[in-house]
Amino acid sequence: MLYALISDIHSNLEALEAVLQDAEQEGAQAALCLGDIVGYGAEPHACIERIRQLGGIVIAGNHDYAVCGKTDVTYFNTYARQAIQWTIGQLSQDDLAFLAGCPLVYHGSSFCLVHGSLNYPDSWEYLFNEEDAIYTFRLLKERILFIGHSHVPLTFTFKGGEVRKLKPSDFILQPGLQYIVNVGSVGQPRDTDVRASYCLFDDVKEIVRFRRVPYHFQRTQAKILNAGLPEILALRLQMGR
Ligand code: ZN
Repeated sequence: MLYALISDIHSNLEALEAVLQDAEQEGAQAALCLGDIVGYGAEPHACIERIRQLGGIVIAGNHDYAVCGKTDVTYFNTYARQAIQWTIGQLSQDDLAFLAGCPLVYHGSSFCLVHGSLNYPDSWEYLFNEEDAIYTFRLLKERILFIGHSHVPLTFTFKGGEVRKLKPSDFILQPGLQYIVNVGSVGQPRDTDVRASYCLFDDVKEIVRFRRVPYHFQRTQAKILNAGLPEILALRLQMGR
């Protein structure tokens, strides 16, 4: 089966549609969502609807749990908190119930999914470097774990107790190795590349591919400004950080 792994959509419908179209063209048969459907952007309800239509597994992110009161927002920065408040007013009871019902972790037959890390998933820890990743590898039963949260695509490998951090490039799973793959962000990339980021995983051929998809971010920016959301949330889309 060919899976599309998408994360950190952040209410950016243009980027989500562009990614789903690309995934379909590539032959993806299912989409798995690693959380943060909402927050920052101007179309939270439409993004939730679109994700629900796909019918795949959806893991909760910190912004998803924040809007339904399941996680503390005091550590969010000011504009992220403003966006959370605005988002709550845009969602139906059904949207909120859906987000509240998303689990923190999913264990599949050949892969695992979590938003931040396996080390206390509800503490929303970031895996930026080798030292962060080792605790999650020690908890990982499957050969590969897909994550999001930092909005920066990358791969960690684990063998014999040693972690290596690799740039995001396509690879075939090697025997004896475990992997953590950050699929990057659909709706708010932070690696200076403005294009939407996601991954494809073929669990039969055991291949992971990193994809970047251009989308009409000016349209997204206009919607953010029209909604009265903080200007920085529009600006950062043209900087990719
Ligand atoms: Zn995020």
